[in-house]
Amino acid sequence: MRIPFVDLHAQYLTIKQEIDRAIAEVIAESAYIRGPHVDAFEEAWARALGVKRCVSCANGTDAIYIALRGLGLKPGDEVITSAHSWISTSETITQAGGRVVFCDTDEETFTIDPADIERKITPATVGIIPVHLYGQPADMGAIMAIAKKHHLWVLEDCAQAHLARYNGQLVGTFGNVATFSFYPGKNLGAYGDAGCAVTNDDRLADWMGTFARHGGKGDHVMEGINSRMDGLQAAILNTKLPHLPAWTEARRRVAELYNRLLEDVDDVTTPKVSSDRDHVYHLYVIRTENRDALRKHLTQAGIYTALNYPKALPFYPAYAYLDHGPKDFPAAYANQSRILSLPIYPEITEEAIEEVTCQIKNAFKVGPGRGPSHHVVQPVLTPTATS
Ligand SMILES: *Cc1c(COP(=O)(O)O)cnc(C)c1O
Repeated sequence: MRIPFVDLHAQYLTIKQEIDRAIAEVIAESAYIRGPHVDAFEEAWARALGVKRCVSCANGTDAIYIALRGLGLKPGDEVITSAHSWISTSETITQAGGRVVFCDTDEETFTIDPADIERKITPATVGIIPVHLYGQPADMGAIMAIAKKHHLWVLEDCAQAHLARYNGQLVGTFGNVATFSFYPGKNLGAYGDAGCAVTNDDRLADWMGTFARHGGKGDHVMEGINSRMDGLQAAILNTKLPHLPAWTEARRRVAELYNRLLEDVDDVTTPKVSSDRDHVYHLYVIRTENRDALRKHLTQAGIYTALNYPKALPFYPAYAYLDHGPKDFPAAYANQSRILSLPIYPEITEEAIEEVTCQIKNAFKVGPGRGPSHHVVQPVLTPTATS
């Protein structure tokens, strides 16, 4: 049984007629760039989140860059963000003219550690970019309190957390501005690149919309960039949006089944969800000291896993200039060699999940059908060396 890490085609097949119709419509109208489908999506996504404005753009990375420029980042300004994320979160700070300041993460939730944010604040700090990593909201209560106390803006990177909630409130509605990615594999994914920034601040939204479209169509009130969502992507997103709540529920059911089936595997720590947060499981990430050996075993069994991400951001060559060592981010550093993302997508079958967990138990020699008191006496896997 071959189990892919994600299966975008399986989802397409469930909505093929709707999607094919939407694509045909865009072609019939030649509504390729901007146009009615893009306007409709901006409106629909703002409504889904309960925010005033949604400014669409070409991808989730541009969205962060555009938002940072909109917030008025100046050379030398310091922006605090998570050491454990995809590089879009930090590279855009530099591209927008600011200085990246990394923070450690909470070891169990993988989200930015508010206590470390406080330690990293200097007179040059202007804002914080929390990431709702893997689909679990960051600790927005603590983060917003810190921002208020120190007069900092907050930009939420929601690329992995469509419809996730903190204390019942949707992510993307806490900070001054929030950004989303609609990369194909994201919880709401286009069939190409797409992204957006959302905000309740009309002035910021107007500025971002103008900046992203050459500083204004026809009047060029400033120099901008070209970052537009195309009509095909918008039409696809409009078609998929009504399905998002059900897909999110399906992801949660997948996670619950994994949690249950892995409960008696001592070598594996399943994702911890804080009680005030609703996780949307863009990724289902376990931790184990035997990560590399387990991954190899699963690959040999035809089960495809991923590392999100192989290293914490400060330890990539791109950030060698910051001269950080493991002691600067102990949790993010420890997690980089423990994390393993298991296959998850709304259409994955129970049988596939059972096969994944069965193979994990095989790897650790947890006998099938034995009670929880007899498991993992002798793991066959040896701990991976941390490099
Ligand atoms: C995917 C992602 C982005 C960037 O989105 P793109 O649409 O791929 O540019 C930004 N931040 C995080 C955390 C992501 O996962």
